Amino acid sequence: METFLQEKKTEMLQLIEQLVNIDSGSYVKKGVDQVGAILKEQYEKLGFIVDVKEEKEFGNNMIIQHKNAVDPKIILVAHMDTVFPEGTVAKRPFYIEGNRAYGPGVVDMKSSQVELIYAIKALQKIGSKSVENIQIILNGDEEIGSITSRHLIEEHSVGKEYALIMEPARKDGSLVTARRGGGRYEVIVKGRAAHSGIDPENGRSAIEELAYKIIQLHGLNNHEKGISVNVGLIEGGTSVNTVSASAVASVDIRISEIEQAAYLEKKIKEICSKSEIVGTEIVLEGSISRPPMELNHRSEELLHIIQDVGKEIGLTVKNTATGGGGDASFTSATGVATVDGLGPVGGNAHSEREYLEIDTLPERTHLLAKTIERLSE
Ligand SMILES: [Zn+2]
Repeated sequence: METFLQEKKTEMLQLIEQLVNIDSGSYVKKGVDQVGAILKEQYEKLGFIVDVKEEKEFGNNMIIQHKNAVDPKIILVAHMDTVFPEGTVAKRPFYIEGNRAYGPGVVDMKSSQVELIYAIKALQKIGSKSVENIQIILNGDEEIGSITSRHLIEEHSVGKEYALIMEPARKDGSLVTARRGGGRYEVIVKGRAAHSGIDPENGRSAIEELAYKIIQLHGLNNHEKGISVNVGLIEGGTSVNTVSASAVASVDIRISEIEQAAYLEKKIKEICSKSEIVGTEIVLEGSISRPPMELNHRSEELLHIIQDVGKEIGLTVKNTATGGGGDASFTSATGVATVDGLGPVGGNAHSEREYLEIDTLPERTHLLAKTIERLSE
């Protein structure tokens, strides 16, 4: 299997190049669907059935499994969208420099798409039936919170034993077994405008009220427990000599345990239910929508299996937790043992310097193939 994959390295890179050079930002439906069409053709050639779930606004999602599959026990999730807008490819298309490949979405996660296809090829090459034990979800909107694909991921996680999420491995090759959950809020304060020189006493400052709220919200931070409440954006007022009639704060929430969601939601509602400045009004919008991916007993077991497979093929695989959210949160919340970060190694995702460590492509594909095989024994 190792030799086969080493031989296929150039071919894999060519497919990655083809995929990277299609603008497929979450808001570029045409591009995401183009990527989907290429992948669909690849899977169909391997004897897989591709069920395309048409979407109007965002890229189509796809559910894929082998034509002989009966009740597969492993779910794999990989997204086809990137964070880059239309026109990015024209400015900086795929290129290779030394041992690294660059381009929009090269490691997050077009390489993972290719890794998955070649893991299946490698398994088919040795006649492994384990390819019939997988179900793959390719979604088109992960980078904007899996708006249309979340329910598909949740529905198809039910009844599975394992979930393998194809986000790139960390820079040091670590897998990801915990991710923080979270959500967003907008705190909208309405006051009353007045000239700050002529009749300030008639004004009700929305900015002043918001200032109290910001301090109270930040008081909820508990870094030890993995709770983060961050007012990252504020906006308000119309001119320096006007008592502000409106002010808005955007709040990012991160949690590490599912129970923290209800607690924080209650606290935030409480804080925003009354104003300090008489005459101002507060409207709260938003919610904690993404559950955290917690390292539970079952996920830990899955991690150990993958680490064991790694040892067998000469790969030391560590694991880590990360603050970022992802589709792993959705599979893990349904109770399925979940490990993320099975893609190749790279870094600087979501930036112009995003790269893939080319040499990790065959070894990570090897790890994935062997893991699928082991989980199907
Ligand atoms: Zn990603």
